[in-house]
Amino acid sequence: MLGGTFDPVHLGHLRSAVELQEVLGLDRVHLIPAKAPPLRGEPRVAPEERLALLRLAIGDTPGLVADDRELAREGPSFSADTLSSLREELGRDARLVMALGHDAFLRLAEWHEPQRLFSLANLVVIDRPDFEAPLPESLRELVAGRECDEPEALMARPAGGLLRLTLPTRMAISATELRRRLGEGRNVRYLLPEAVERHILAHGLYRRD
Ligand code: ATP
Repeated sequence: MLGGTFDPVHLGHLRSAVELQEVLGLDRVHLIPAKAPPLRGEPRVAPEERLALLRLAIGDTPGLVADDRELAREGPSFSADTLSSLREELGRDARLVMALGHDAFLRLAEWHEPQRLFSLANLVVIDRPDFEAPLPESLRELVAGRECDEPEALMARPAGGLLRLTLPTRMAISATELRRRLGEGRNVRYLLPEAVERHILAHGLYRRD
C-alpha cells in the first residue's frame, strides 16, 4: 500500500512504486488516494478527480493498482482501517507492506492508532531528497525494536517490521511544488505523466484565477 493525497500524482510516486515492487519482490502495489487526509488541510482537487488522475497515470503498468477503497468510506481516511480491509482480503499470512516517504514517516506518532499499523503491516520508509530531518523522540519510541536492515528480513514475516530504504532513483518532486507551478501557469513537463498533465490542463485543475 502506498497511500497519499495524490494532489496530483507525480513521477516521484510512480517511480517509487515500481522500484518498491522490484526491491521488495511485491506482487502488487496499491496506490490509495485518501478521501479526507486527517493530518492536512482539504486537498485542492476532489477525491474522484484525484483518483481519475491516478488511473490515467498508472494506465496499464503491470503490478500497479489505483485502489479506490478509501473513497467509499465516510469520515477521515485512517490508514489503519485501510490496512485492515487489505488484511481481510489477503488473509493473515500475506506479507503486507505500508510504504511512506520520510516526510510522512516523521509524523507517524501523530497518526490514528500507530501501533495498530504495525500489527497489520510492515512499514517501509522511502528516503526522499529535501526531507532528511531526524526522528522525533515519540517516533523513536514507537519504532523501537522494529527496524530491519534488509528487505529479506522485513519480508520474512507478515507484519510488525520497519525498513528504511533508499530506492535506486530518488526524485525531488513534490505535489506542493507541482500545485505551485500549475497555479502560476508554469511548465510541469516530465514531472508527471503526459496523460495527467493533459487532463489537468484541459480541465483547468490547480489554476489560480
Ligand atoms: P504534498 O507536497 O502535497 O505533501 P507529496 O508530493 O508529498 O504531496 P503525497 O500524496 O502526500 O505527495 O504522498 C504520498 C506518499 O508518497 C507519501 O508517503 C509521500 O512521502 C510519498 N512521496 C511523495 N513524493 C515522493 C517522492 N518524490 N519520492 C518518494 N516518496 C514520495
